[in-house]
Amino acid sequence: MAAKQFRHFIDGEFVGSSKTFEKRRPTDNSLVGHIHEGGPSEVNAAVAAAQAALTGPWGQMTIDQRAALLHKVADEITRRFGEFVQAEMDDIGQPMTMLEHIAIPRGAANFKIFADIVKNVPAESFMTPTPDGAGALNYAIRVPKGVVGVVCPWNMPLLLMTWKVGPALACGNTVVVKPSEETPGTATLLGEVMNAVGVPKGVYNVVHGFGANSAGEFLTRHQGVAAITFTGETRTGAAIMKAASDGIRDVSFELGGKNAGIVFADCDFDKAIEGIGRSAFMNCGQVCLGTERVYVERPIFDRFVAALKTKAESMTPGAPDEKTTVIGPLISDEHRRKVLSYYEKAKTEGATIVTGGGIPKMPGELANGFWVEPTIWTDLPETASVIREEIFGPCCHIAPFDKEDEVIRLANDTDYGLSTTIWTTNLSRAHRVAAQIEVGITWINSWFLRDLRTPFGGSKRSGIGREGGVHSLEFYTEQRNICIKL
Ligand code: NAD
Repeated sequence: MAAKQFRHFIDGEFVGSSKTFEKRRPTDNSLVGHIHEGGPSEVNAAVAAAQAALTGPWGQMTIDQRAALLHKVADEITRRFGEFVQAEMDDIGQPMTMLEHIAIPRGAANFKIFADIVKNVPAESFMTPTPDGAGALNYAIRVPKGVVGVVCPWNMPLLLMTWKVGPALACGNTVVVKPSEETPGTATLLGEVMNAVGVPKGVYNVVHGFGANSAGEFLTRHQGVAAITFTGETRTGAAIMKAASDGIRDVSFELGGKNAGIVFADCDFDKAIEGIGRSAFMNCGQVCLGTERVYVERPIFDRFVAALKTKAESMTPGAPDEKTTVIGPLISDEHRRKVLSYYEKAKTEGATIVTGGGIPKMPGELANGFWVEPTIWTDLPETASVIREEIFGPCCHIAPFDKEDEVIRLANDTDYGLSTTIWTTNLSRAHRVAAQIEVGITWINSWFLRDLRTPFGGSKRSGIGREGGVHSLEFYTEQRNICIKL
């Protein structure tokens, strides 16, 4: 297959840079193509185009016209479904079945859902008494913030990008997207989609490159960017927050996690195994909401460990385009080295390795890819690094617990606060425990079940702000109050 060129998308045109770097497939380390690396001049051009578009045809559109256009964006993604699936298979090696059922359809849906939500949100108004008895009318209007900088991770590229670009555009903003340097494909394809359906030039821009001292940093430092929405590592969030403080720009952050799974003895056992199996190993563990710490009530602990071992061993890694594959490789050699370093640490810290712990034997060219075995540990103290730090690999530690209070304390004993999954058939306990877990989202007897109208985000070091449904409007619009003396 000919190597691709991943160019920037600025002001409705694909433009290249003199500097490029390689994108390789995680499945076999073969070359996907060359990514153009944006510097200050590309970022300046993209921000200028986005600023100009705010007052051009895009800024003149009614909400109905804008919403109709965003529906067309979603329909065009669906029409080119196969190309989007292939692009993400090349970039992340995620199994085709997952891309077809979750990442690409949800990526497209984000445009329709937010267009519909924004159309239907009322603004508030108050009648205010005044001493002369005539009163005053206060009412609020919502206006777009301006140019929004969107900095994205690699683990679910289209879904996580459109989760931000969808509401940003629905609210009338323009965007400059900095995709992850690992996953240039679908953000670039989306530029073609925008042109095909007639989104005015400058509304959606993409600048490729790295983070620090590259396109990411130049974008987040740019004073023409009114607000920054970011998904990625907590430490990157801290760097971006510093950049955003210059010029007092608003931020919305979805960051890392070290999420607990809590399994009570009264759970539906098979469903709990299925659920924790998915939450620990889906996307090769590269899901921010995934479970890396599992706490199981002691009476079912041994049975649970044995059953999750069987589940993990049934999830053999394989080529993403095979219908039966449920687990792909890690994103890169660098990330695999990080994950394997934790596999090593678990060993030196005294873990019992229930299953996995190494690199699976892969056939043919696949042997050059970045595969790791799904891994389960037990018997580590809560101070162990694999229990404290986000690994972002297909692995989890399982520990027993005896009391409800004890497991709540264990689940909350982390700097992060993204998600929890609780398994129990006792309804009162489910409510009682869920309310005490310090996270943005708790699932009961489920995991990754998302209603896009609900608030989504992290507590503690897992994020700032909430996006989703009307909550996205809080970030992507500014409210202005107008007071009329009657
Ligand atoms: P990352 O922080 O390394 O990179 C994310 C993006 O930030 C990339 O585009 C990168 O180029 C850019 N970047 C890096 N340094 C920058 C800087 N100094 N200034 C501006 N931009 C910079 O994260 P990643 O490795 O791509 O993604 C994995 C992480 O994302 C994990 O920690 C995971 O938990 C988190 N994540 C969180 C959520 C959520 O919803 N909370 C969702 C997905 C992933």
